Amino acid sequence: MQKYRIFAPGIEVWCNGSTTDFGSVCPGSNPGTSTIIMDRRTFIGIGAASALAAAGTTLEGKVPTAIKDLAKDNSLKIKFLGTGAASGRKNGKGRRHSSILVDNSFLIDLTDNSLDMIPEGLHPGTIFYTHSHPDHFQPSAALKAGVQKVYLSHSWYDVAAKAYKEASKELGVKMPEIVPTYFGQEVQVGEVTVTPLIANHPTSNVMEESQIYLLSKGGVRLLYATDTAGIPGRSARRIGIDAHREGYGITALIMEATMADPDDFRLYCHSSTATVANTVRVLLKTDRLHMPAGQKVYITHMAGSLHTAAELSSLPDPIVAAEDGLEVIFREP
Ligand SMILES: [Zn+2]
Ligand SMILES: [Zn+2]
Repeated sequence: MQKYRIFAPGIEVWCNGSTTDFGSVCPGSNPGTSTIIMDRRTFIGIGAASALAAAGTTLEGKVPTAIKDLAKDNSLKIKFLGTGAASGRKNGKGRRHSSILVDNSFLIDLTDNSLDMIPEGLHPGTIFYTHSHPDHFQPSAALKAGVQKVYLSHSWYDVAAKAYKEASKELGVKMPEIVPTYFGQEVQVGEVTVTPLIANHPTSNVMEESQIYLLSKGGVRLLYATDTAGIPGRSARRIGIDAHREGYGITALIMEATMADPDDFRLYCHSSTATVANTVRVLLKTDRLHMPAGQKVYITHMAGSLHTAAELSSLPDPIVAAEDGLEVIFREP
């Protein structure tokens, strides 16, 4: 592990020598410590903003268009806080419960199992939930992380509100605002547009609709799909990857592969690596997944007992297994 200080104080890159535009940056390393990845455009943007701020000018003020363009960074940064399934990490072994940090700004799912992977000093104020299973939904963990706004499907709003009320009381913190979401109805968080979609993943509450999410920023359209058995047709249609092709499709994919065996009995509620490979093959062959050169498709929610290390290290290109702590910058194609 080497530490480089570049360009300016406060802007650091921690690197194990494998930093690439789309690939891994410090996979699984240095948990709990801030890893700042600075690409040239972002640096120039921040540099320009700082210089203008010093001169008393804001970016919204009298700024030449060229500088404005440089300051705008449409890449989407994902940090995998956890990449495991329900069993999670125990006694320092195994993958943490699946959870991501989006653009250092908001979370999708969080439990105590992955809490230590949030960069030190960062308090993401917003969380989205995929569903109510305890390896994804744990109100006390979100409250400890500083969450003040919660988005989840309207179909289990009451259940979530009650659980949050109890957790807030127990921890002696303010009850967060809980906002119900609906299929296809976009939510804006900073520069990221979040589109809730349905998953194919039942819970014990028959009324509950589990969700997957489309995350859009500039020309980046990332589908984050866990937990789900394949991509449901309704969701595929909403994002332009089904037969009707209403829309552009997607530019990036993170999908669950709970198991390796395609004949596993969990096939009605989870995906296998074969399901992901099949999905990716079709999307690429039919020009529905527009990835920039070199970008990978990441699998997550891997159950430790249902995969072997050998299988995970030899997945068909462009599929790779994410790791806890991995940061990926997704760029426009
Ligand atoms: Zn799960
Ligand atoms: Zn689940």
